[in-house]
Order: sequence, then structure tokens, then C-alpha cells
Amino acid sequence: MRASTADLRNANLLAVYKYIYEHKEATKTEISYALRLSLPTVTQDLNELLSSSRILSAQKAEASVGRPAMLYQFNSNHHVSFGVEVLQKKVYVATVDLYGKIIKEAKLERKFENTPEYFQEIGDFINGFIDPQGYPDGDILGVTFAVQGIVSEDNEHMTFGTLLNTTDFTRENFAKHFRHKVSLVHDTEAAAIAEDWYVHGSDLNAIYLSLNHNLGSARIIGGKVVHTDNLSSGTIEHMTLYPRGKVCYCGKKGCVDRYVSAEALMEAAGMTVPEFFEAKKAGDKKVLKIWNQYLNDLALVIENARMVIDGCVILGGLLDEYITDDDIDKLKKCIRSISCFPQVEPVIIHSHYGSKATLIGSAITEISVYLQRIGLDL
Ligand SMILES: [Zn+2]
Repeated sequence: MRASTADLRNANLLAVYKYIYEHKEATKTEISYALRLSLPTVTQDLNELLSSSRILSAQKAEASVGRPAMLYQFNSNHHVSFGVEVLQKKVYVATVDLYGKIIKEAKLERKFENTPEYFQEIGDFINGFIDPQGYPDGDILGVTFAVQGIVSEDNEHMTFGTLLNTTDFTRENFAKHFRHKVSLVHDTEAAAIAEDWYVHGSDLNAIYLSLNHNLGSARIIGGKVVHTDNLSSGTIEHMTLYPRGKVCYCGKKGCVDRYVSAEALMEAAGMTVPEFFEAKKAGDKKVLKIWNQYLNDLALVIENARMVIDGCVILGGLLDEYITDDDIDKLKKCIRSISCFPQVEPVIIHSHYGSKATLIGSAITEISVYLQRIGLDL
């Protein structure tokens, strides 16, 4: 069947919009040349995109012969999404644009409580953050709460969440205080979504390890963060590293969390994370011994993980910023010495978004759905 004129026009318009999204900005001639479209067609499409505020225009800054060419920019604030990170004692919120960039953020010091007063206070705080920014309701894609626990397949409640001391609250507890779409997401899964977004376009196979106060993990397979019925995106943190080992908060003994989380490191050393790494820098022998044992345990976890995923391991969370290139070399050396596939080079990379990964990733859950819907998904 032949495409109608209207279909063709829509396809051209989308191609122009997509080109500007990918390149962030472009001139009319660049677009016409790259897409092999006539200048009148591109002009018509640009005018339509400008009139709906999907793109913006600005004079090209650099001097050139004749009139400077008009530069067309993607309007990344045309729609926005809000990411919220709920922690035991704090709540972070951020406005995120269509490029997955934080535009504005805020923090509230408030201890988590499963009470109507708590949800009301969080609702007031976040609405007080959103409303003054002046986005029309139709431009707000949603408010996504990242929680420290496994979220059910239907995204309505938590099925496992010892860190917030309860699984009794539901999405509705948050949602009733908003006129926007509200969703829940497991915090580590959100962080992995952000990291996966960063390498978008690749068929990434990876395990994301969040080396936070408590350990978190998520699986990325074929460029997608996996979310399954019962165990979210996998729970490496509760795999047994040492049978009959230290007691984990889940009630089991010898879990990975008890050996490679930031909390485990602080307990072993009896100091805070910054103190620990100051002492490490100063060459404190006791601290160096604890750190070498930590790296050996982490190497064992990474080796087990890559036997399942056959891909790379992304290190994120609190401890990631302290892990040096030398530490990565030590991890790789240790992995080669214990692996039955030493010829398969271990790939260990640092997180791109660092401590902001969860906040950005929770907002990206709605952004990626929107981009896919309008055909801008890359
Ligand atoms: Zn456990």
C-alpha cells in the first residue's frame, strides 16, 4: 500500500524532530542535507515544531559570511518528569528534562514513617517543589518514587522492604496527594535504568552493583533493565558469600550485603566512610588490610555475577567514588586468579551518574515511555 501524503508529511516531521533531538541543535541546511529533504519541506516542518514549542530557535553565535544561520534547538523542557528518592531519613526530589538531565532539585530531612501525616508532608513538600516551576499539568509526565525495597510486578506496593521497616504502604499512599501520575520503582533498579540510558543504543549486558550503605543490584540484559515477578531485578545482595557467616538484616547468614556494603566496611573498621578513605590514603595498615579483604570479597561477588550475566559490572553508590584505578586492577587480578575463564577479560566500570543515579533513573522511567510514544526513542 502506498503511503498517503499525510503519512509522508508526518514521517518527515518526525525525522526532523528526531534529528534535532539527537544533535541537540542544527541549522536548516544541515537538516536538509542529512535527511535529503528539500529546504521548503524542512522549513515547513521547522515552523510546525516551533509553533508547538517542541523546538526553539536562536541565532547562530559565530560570525560567518553573510547573515548568520538560524540554529534550531530541541526544547528539552517541553515535557518533564519528577524523580523522588525516599530514604530512611531524607527525601530527594528532582525535575528531569527529556535528555535525562536534572534541571532543579531539593531535599527534605524527614524520617520515614508509615503514617498519613508522613505521606501528607511528603506530598506538600513535592507539590511545593513542582508548582512554582510553572509547568502546565499536561507537560508533566509523572512523579516516580524510588523506594528501598522490591516493588511488586503491578507497581502498586512493596513486596520486600526491611530497610524502610515496612512493606505495608502502597503507591496510593503517595498518589492521593498528587494530581499527576504517580509510580513506584525499586531504587537500585532506577539507578540501573539511568546507567543503561547513558549507554543507550547498545545491547548492554551488565550487572549494576550499588555499593551504598546497603548493597543493591540490578540486571541489564540486551540494553534493558530486567524486572521480574518476585525478585525485582535480582538480589545479589542476599546471595550467600560465606555460609554460616555474619547475620544479614534479611535474617539469613553470610549474605553478600554483610561483606561488600558500605555499612559492612564501616562496621569492620569502626569508622565512617570518609574517615576510612582518609586513613587508607595515609597508609593505615589496619585499614589497608580491611580494604584488601573488601576487594577480595567484591571480586568474588563480581566473578559470580559475570558467570551469570556474561557482561560487564557497573559499580555505583557511595563507595564507587572512592574506588581507584589501582583498586579496579586489583579486582581484575583477583578475578583472573579465581576464575575458570581467566581468558575472558573482566569488564568493570564506574557508574556515570554516581549518587544521582537513582533520582535520575526514577524520572527516566516516565521519560523513556514518553519518547517511545512520540517516536523519539533512539
Ligand atoms: Zn540477606
